[in-house]
Formats: sequence, structure tokens, C-alpha cells
Amino acid sequence: VVAKDLEELEAERRRLYEDLSQIGDFQRGTIAENYRRCGKLNCCCGEADHPGHGPQYLLMTKVEGRSRAQNLRAGAELDKTRREVENQRRFRDLVQQIVAVNERICAGRPIEYSAAEIERARLKKKLPRSSRQRRRGKSSA
Ligand SMILES: [Zn+2]
Repeated sequence: VVAKDLEELEAERRRLYEDLSQIGDFQRGTIAENYRRCGKLNCCCGEADHPGHGPQYLLMTKVEGRSRAQNLRAGAELDKTRREVENQRRFRDLVQQIVAVNERICAGRPIEYSAAEIERARLKKKLPRSSRQRRRGKSSA
């Protein structure tokens, strides 16, 4: 990774942080669409080809390992919750991208050896490779 790549990675990271700040409200969970049989005698939902009553929308969440289902009314409530759950997916996706770009930045960021470290290494004739390259690059320029 050369300095120019590092700058591009840093710019990419700034873009991702900017996107992150624009996500808006989000919450965990998935939305389930349920059809059910009411169990009443002679109700049409008892017939074999009947899909059951519904759809009923449920926000499924897991809190401390326990599943929870919360009823959502179709319309504004369902739409709002859909957006919030979708934003959570975007949040997770962005965080993964931010982790990935940060790891590439870490891998590409040169080590800043102190003068004392470089001198010690020189005396031991074990100068770290990256600082040797940097020194050679500077002296030839
Ligand atoms: Zn029924």
C-alpha cells in the first residue's frame, strides 16, 4: 500500500462515516407475515384450501435470547417499522465496510520508528525493512 492508496482509503472511510451519520432511526428484528386458523367451528379458514386469516404482521425480536413478537398494524405502523428494520440492515452493512476499510488502513499505515529504534537496529544490522526502504527513498530524492 503506497501513500496515495492510503489517502484513498481514508477518503473512503470518511464517506462511510458520513453515510453512517445519515442512516436515521433503526431497530433490530425481522418482520413476519402470518396467516392463521382461528379454530372456530364452521369458519371458512378450516377448509383445506383456505390460506388462513391474515396477513398479520409481527415484529420478531430476540432480547437476551428470548424471542418476542409484537403485532404491527398494516399501514403507517408497518411502514415505519419496515424502514427502521431496513435501516438496521444498512447500519450493519456499513459497519462491516468500516471495519474492512480500517483494517486495510492499519495494514498500509507505515510504522513510525523512533530515531533511537532505527539507530539500535542499524547497530545490530537488523534495520526493519520498511524504515530501510523509506530512508533509501528519501536519500535518492
Ligand atoms: Zn377462521
